[in-house]
Amino acid sequence: LGRHENDDRPTYFDYNGVRFGQDTLNIFAGLCAVDTLEHVELMLKALRDHGQVCTRMGAYKPRTSPYSFQGHGKACLPYVFDLAGKYEIKVIAMEVTHESHVEEIREALYQTGTSTGVMLQIGTRNTQNFELLKIVGRQQDFPVLIKRGFGITLDESLNAAEYLASEGNRKVVFGLRGMKTNMGDPHRNFVDFAHVPVVKRMTRMPVCIDPSHSIGTRSSTPDGIPDIMHATAQGIIAGANMVLVDFHPVPSKALVDGPQALLLKELPLFLEDVRIAREAY
Ligand code: PEP
Repeated sequence: LGRHENDDRPTYFDYNGVRFGQDTLNIFAGLCAVDTLEHVELMLKALRDHGQVCTRMGAYKPRTSPYSFQGHGKACLPYVFDLAGKYEIKVIAMEVTHESHVEEIREALYQTGTSTGVMLQIGTRNTQNFELLKIVGRQQDFPVLIKRGFGITLDESLNAAEYLASEGNRKVVFGLRGMKTNMGDPHRNFVDFAHVPVVKRMTRMPVCIDPSHSIGTRSSTPDGIPDIMHATAQGIIAGANMVLVDFHPVPSKALVDGPQALLLKELPLFLEDVRIAREAY
């Protein structure tokens, strides 16, 4: 996936009718974790009503505490895929942490006969889970979003992405999601979106930003604009090609990361913000 001098290999790929490239921009707004069928439907309907064809939605949630909600797993896949098809969503970004998750997703896509597709997501905690990377690298029917490891060098994370390609899967998007520091940052992670152009220069991968997991709160500037939207605009102006962002119909009822979820009524403002930032790029 690395760039060489005079490299004319493609910097894009197509999946389920959607192009992902270093010159395109795809928005993946959605639930951090699937909770109720009703919330999934409200989310997907809002996306369809605003012309969106991609979403993010976790069924398998790696959590810091073993006592926290771990995701509904395969039980929710049939209704998520059915509803995604109903609302004409073409790609769902969904984290996997084990080979069995890939099989469950493939089986549920087949069983539901949905028109939707899945982008497998490798979370920051698994960036260097080399065996998982090799397994996902062999699934050439799915594109992959690999998140940067929050406590390793950029080079180490780029090498992790290379594990996917070395097994044959070159439909890879690289995700920036903020870095952990011990400096008492006001946000959950230190935003690293200045690295968007660096990754695009070094590799042929489209670059995704995740302002929600970077910022981690719904706090706003006095004009009422959430820090998450400011960070999104910064990332897009830096050239980001994909945005993963958490929304929830009722954040207080979200089972994972409610405090960072934007409200559905903020979706039009968010999309307008994205449009303006993209024009400025
Ligand atoms: C997520 O996107 O749901 C997630 C857990 O992200 P990260 O791996 O970046 O923490």
